[in-house]
Parts: sequence; C-alpha cells; structure tokens
Amino acid sequence: MNQENGLSERDLLGAIESCLEQGQLDTVREALRHLIHELQVHELELEIQNRELRNVQIELERSRDRYAHLFDFAPIGYLILDGRGVIQEVNLTGAAMTGYERRLLVGYPFTRFLSKEGRLVFLSCLRECRSAGRKLATELVLIGKEGSGLPVRLYIEAAESDPVNGCEYRMAMVDLREQRQAEELAQQAVKLQAINVALQAADRRKTEFIAVLSHELRNPLAPILAAVQALQRMYPSEPRSGRLMEVIHRQVKHLARLVDDLLDVSRITRDKIRLNRQAVELTRLVNDALENVQPLMEARQHRLTVTLPDPPVRLMADPVRLVQVIENLLANAAKYTPAGGWIHLSARREAADVMLSIRDNGIGIAPEMLPRIFDLFTQADQGLDRSAGGLGIGLHIVKRLVEMHGGRVEAGSEGQGKGSEFRVWLPVLSDWP
Ligand code: ADP
Repeated sequence: MNQENGLSERDLLGAIESCLEQGQLDTVREALRHLIHELQVHELELEIQNRELRNVQIELERSRDRYAHLFDFAPIGYLILDGRGVIQEVNLTGAAMTGYERRLLVGYPFTRFLSKEGRLVFLSCLRECRSAGRKLATELVLIGKEGSGLPVRLYIEAAESDPVNGCEYRMAMVDLREQRQAEELAQQAVKLQAINVALQAADRRKTEFIAVLSHELRNPLAPILAAVQALQRMYPSEPRSGRLMEVIHRQVKHLARLVDDLLDVSRITRDKIRLNRQAVELTRLVNDALENVQPLMEARQHRLTVTLPDPPVRLMADPVRLVQVIENLLANAAKYTPAGGWIHLSARREAADVMLSIRDNGIGIAPEMLPRIFDLFTQADQGLDRSAGGLGIGLHIVKRLVEMHGGRVEAGSEGQGKGSEFRVWLPVLSDWP
C-alpha cells in the first residue's frame, strides 16, 4: 500500500513513531489522516472488484447452466468415461439410448452395453485414442435394457483430466437407425428403379407387339369381307347360305372393329395419332355416331332419347375422332344395358364447355371399378353375354381422344344394376353462329 507516494507501511509507521518521539503531533495527525484516506480508497476498490467478481461468477453459472441444458437435450448421446471406461457422466439422450435411468448408469462400465466382439473393438479404440492422442470414430451395436441392438456411431476422444484421476474419455454417440432406414430406402429405390426400367421396356415391347399383331390381323380382314360381300351378291336368293354369310359378315366386321381399336391404342400409346381439326357442329357428330350404333340399339329394343343444346354448339375438333368417342360411349351403353332398357344422350353448355352426357339404366358399375374404368384393359365382370364385350380398351381410347381435344371425361354410377353415366366436357369453339 501507498507505494505510489513512495512510502511503505513500515516507513509510514516508522515516520509516525519518530514524530511521536519528537513530539510532532501535527505531523502524526496529518499522516494518520492520509492513512485513513488511503484505506477508504482501497476499500472502495475492493468493493468494485468484488462486484465485478460476483458478475463474472453469475455469468459463469449461467453459462454452465446453458451448457448443462445443451448437454442434456442434444439429440446426441454424450458420455464421459474414466480411464477404465467406467461411465462418469452421461446426458439424457445417452441414457435413453441404453434404456436406463441416468443415475443408474454412473459407475457402470460402458462395455456392459456391448457384445463380446463389440467390447474388443471398443477397448482397442480406447487404447488407440490414448496412445495416438487423437479422436476416433467407430460403429457398434449398443445392447440396451430391452436387449434389442441399437446401431450407433461413437466418436471418442482421450483427455488427460488431472494427475490424480489420469486419463478420461469423452464420447459422443449417434443413433444410426434413421440413417440405416434411409440407406435401406435408397437401396429399395434403386431396386424399384431397375424394376421400373425393366417394366417400361416390357411395356414398350408389348405395345410394339400389339401394333404388329393388329396390322397382321387387319390385312386378311378386308379381302375376307370383300369375298363375303361378293358371295352375297352372287347368291342373293340362297336363304341358308345367305344367313351363314350374314353371320360371317357380321363377325368379320366385329373383328375388324376390335382390330381397329387395337391399332388405335397402339398408336395412342406411341403418341402417333394426329388430329385433323376443323370447325364442326356437335349435332352432326352426334347424328353420325347414332347412325352407326342405331342397329345395335334396335336389335336390343332400347329406348333412345336425345336432347341437344339450342342454339347448337360448334367445336374445333377432329370429326372422325369425336364420332368415334360418342359412338364408343353409345355402343357401351347399348352393350351393357339389357334389352328393353333406355339410353339418354344429352348435351348442354357449361361456361366455355359443352357437357355431353350418355346415361343408361343398364348393369351399372361397381364403386371399386369406377376409378380404373378408363385404364387400359379394364373390364368389369359384365354379367351379360360375353360376346357383347370387347377388349377393355374402348374407354381408354375415349379418354385419350377427349384429352387430346382439351376436354375431360368422367364416369358415374350408383352401383351395380343401377345404370351408368359417362360425361364428356369439350371446349366450345365460339358462340353460335
Ligand atoms: P369393352 O370393350 O370391354 O367394352 P371399354 O373400355 O369400352 O371396353 O369398357 C371397359 C369396361 O367398362 C367394360 O368392360 C365394362 O365393364 C365397363 N363399362 C363401360 N361402359 C359401361 C356402361 N355403360 N355400363 C356398364 N359398364 C360399362
């Protein structure tokens, strides 16, 4: 104290004593006052230092609490092991990975959670960590309380804590289950991708086969049909052979329709259909389609009603393809409606579209069939004479052709035996005329 003034305590006391001996009381008083002042300043300084120390201590406690919190709630297990591998500290996540309460784990050798082989790997890791003085990572299976294995990755670091306790190990433990699942999923995805590629190749081969097959089937049909027609002309008054020829004629035409459908579907799948669009009146399309299916409806004594919008609507469409769409839906209505049933065709404007509906009171469609009804080769258990059925491709063609025209199609039915309704929306060209 008092070094700044050039006087040590001993010097000061010595000076006071010599003053007292010499009776210099004023000088003593002055020195004492000086001493008191020095003490007061010193006390003040101490108080300030004390306050600063308290603040530092509070800050340290806060920081410790923060790290303790992080230590506990990190999604990674943290452990501190002594030099023999006995658990000294473990965070909540680490304890959860073992399945034990944290307080039970302290004093437990970590190797208890490892298999025999795991133990050997782990202990050699500890040795290497210590001798090489570096961090190591290894993957092991932790056998927790429940006995089930938990794959973990361990990061181990050796640290000399103090001369009494010697070395300690700090360890981070990462749960690898999610990573393993992700790896498995990735492997499955690769397998699925390979299956998908193989399926696509098979699908392409099938489409090409259908294209070749339908071409090959179509070629002989035209001469057969021509020959039958020639025979019909040659023997017009022969009743028995006339009937037989009519059967051949009808069946060959049916066959030709199936083959045409097959050809269309192979073209659609390979994106080979081009639309020949022109402004066309809906009424004309409906009439053309009706003309083609009328014989079938008459044969089955169906009652047909038609309601078309007034004023009529025009579409920018390929008439051949849209007639095919309407004809397909009408033919289906006729095929899947028992004799004597009714079929109703109606159309009305809906905003920028015209909505065409073809309804029947036939066998209907089961609810589980509805979502797949437009898929290729979909056929319900028809319950009717199978000879009426086709190949299950007509509706697929309908959907694709309607979509190519910028429209959409929907199927509806209250269920089996309750009739069906097919609705087609197509953009209208412009207001009439
Ligand atoms: P198909 O050549 O078999 O008629 P489609 O693709 O035209 O093929 O029709 C697919 C299936 O949808 C049919 O087999 C039939 O089960 C069902 N279906 C289509 N239209 C109707 C309808 N109007 N009423 C009931 N079922 C229908």
